Amino acid sequence: MVKIGVTLHPSDSPDREELDRLAAQIVEGVQLAGGEAILIPPNLDEATLRLRFSELDGLLLSGGGDVDPRLYGEAPTAVVSGVDANRDRTEMTLARWALAEGKPLFGICRGLQLLNVACGGSLYQDVSQHERALKHAYYPDFPHDHLAHPVTVADDSRLASILGAARVQVNSLHHQACRVVAPGVRAVAWAPDGIVEALEVEGHPFAVAVQWHPEALLQRAESRALFAALVEAGARR
Ligand code: MN
Repeated sequence: MVKIGVTLHPSDSPDREELDRLAAQIVEGVQLAGGEAILIPPNLDEATLRLRFSELDGLLLSGGGDVDPRLYGEAPTAVVSGVDANRDRTEMTLARWALAEGKPLFGICRGLQLLNVACGGSLYQDVSQHERALKHAYYPDFPHDHLAHPVTVADDSRLASILGAARVQVNSLHHQACRVVAPGVRAVAWAPDGIVEALEVEGHPFAVAVQWHPEALLQRAESRALFAALVEAGARR
């Protein structure tokens, strides 16, 4: 069975209940695609992490608290929350290994942001730093599956072929967003305000990330297709 490593939030996360629910839905998404989810806690030592990584066919970077702005050269402002140094270290290490070794990689929400930072890009510490930003943080006022805004997908992207559409409605549960897209990374989907909603790493067999939460929309075929694409990429290795 294709083994997909799923990174986890720390047990003392401020939004733990919400993140536990999303993690359970990620496991379900991987299972629906025929894969086996291997959970990766944020506090493994590097040798154990390397052993765990070596057994994986693919990696899924999940959602959660903010990436430490110091990792992209900024001092954190008051809008930053939920930073966890162990989680940042663990996921930056895993992302770099997956990028260097061509192991399939899929990022969700924070996972997109982490991927961009790991490749040398930067983030908006809050989307309000973008002058035309719409509301993107619908939690906790709306359910996780609330279709908050459309995204336009680049026609010639891998993402468009996975989704089977150039425009989809998505849930939006993020207050940070991609600012400067990293070198070697391509933005492939945008919200109506121009906020980047998906990334792909050029020249990698499968490194795709989305800013929304397909795990909370598993009833939709295009969400299941994202998990299926990751598991298929893992099976091809
Ligand atoms: Mn959004």
